[in-house]
Amino acid sequence: MHNIAINGEPVIAREGATILEAARKVGVRIPTLCFLKERSGVASCRVCVVEVEGEPYPVPACATPVRDGMEITTDSPKLAAYRKMALELILSSKGAALASLACEEGAEATELSKLCCELGVQVPADVDGTDALPVVEGNPFLSYDPNLCIECQRCVGACNAAARNHSLQSRMRGSHVLIDAPFGADWRATDCESCGNCAQACPTGALSLKSRRRSEAPVETPAGVQDAEARFVRTTCPHCGVGCQLELEVRDGRIVGARGAQGASNRSLLCVKGRSASYDFVSSPDRLTSPLVRSPETGELEPATWDEALDVVASRFTALRDECGGESIAAFACSRSTNEDVYLFQKMARTALRSNNIDSCARV
Ligand code: SF4
Ligand code: SF4
Ligand code: SF4
Repeated sequence: MHNIAINGEPVIAREGATILEAARKVGVRIPTLCFLKERSGVASCRVCVVEVEGEPYPVPACATPVRDGMEITTDSPKLAAYRKMALELILSSKGAALASLACEEGAEATELSKLCCELGVQVPADVDGTDALPVVEGNPFLSYDPNLCIECQRCVGACNAAARNHSLQSRMRGSHVLIDAPFGADWRATDCESCGNCAQACPTGALSLKSRRRSEAPVETPAGVQDAEARFVRTTCPHCGVGCQLELEVRDGRIVGARGAQGASNRSLLCVKGRSASYDFVSSPDRLTSPLVRSPETGELEPATWDEALDVVASRFTALRDECGGESIAAFACSRSTNEDVYLFQKMARTALRSNNIDSCARV
């Protein structure tokens, strides 16, 4: 362990910890941009610079390991000026689209825009070049706008280091770096799983989910329900037994998006189902809202009460069991069910249906 001081307060930090990690551990906030825990630590943006006693220049907190006796200052007029200049350089490095991401409040504001507000960065007067590069739009879920890309590499870390998909790379060097997002016309030929973990990691909206744009279109919302701002509701993905944790984005009484949350099994990652198919069905007009029973007369499915439907199910299964034996029946449980429900289900299969043919899609 190392004894260090952060803003004059004594702190004990573990060997190998960065200044950023040590500061976060004691609740001291240092602004970051290209850094994202478990995703990227390329230390290229210089927004997280701090002063270290004895060092001639500020150092990046995300990439500087603590040393015993270090005296660190995380907040000063000099640092504020450095950080502001770093952001101004980033904003003015491309065309008007990136420059326009300067300070903007509101639910749709990007992480970069919010940081600009915090550090007092306005739209730069001069920008280099124009928005010349075409947007990559072939993938049905995702798009990549290189004109908004600040080359922070967070998406690369999200795809390769975190999700282990290895389908997204950066190419070229220096100020010409481009992200090779596999979202072009031949996206099906790539290994991309359309999971969108890269888009969740992107601080500028260069990589984005198309469903975000759809959600901005005017929609009919439940009467009387209006949210001034989006709410995020923590829940469990409804699709499979991995049980990923996610946050549903709710606006005006309607779910409009999902993002990965820190959970033991997913650590903020989601697959394509969790991210893009976890919520649309909630307000779908096709959604079943009552049981349907097929009429013996017409052969058509007709609405029924739960009692009527369950009576049909019970009588048909009982008849099958009595006519053909319990081994003619298999019970297949849903992996989304709780342990307690699945326990009861197998109990019912063994005792009421007299079948040991029991399985679940959780291990398929
Ligand atoms: S959608 Fe998933 S697999 Fe495809 S590039 Fe992004 S992180 Fe990688
Ligand atoms: S696409 Fe987004 S996350 Fe990836 S390098 Fe560009 S700005 Fe960073
Ligand atoms: S469907 Fe995907 S996001 Fe949902 S729990 Fe399974 S692995 Fe996680």
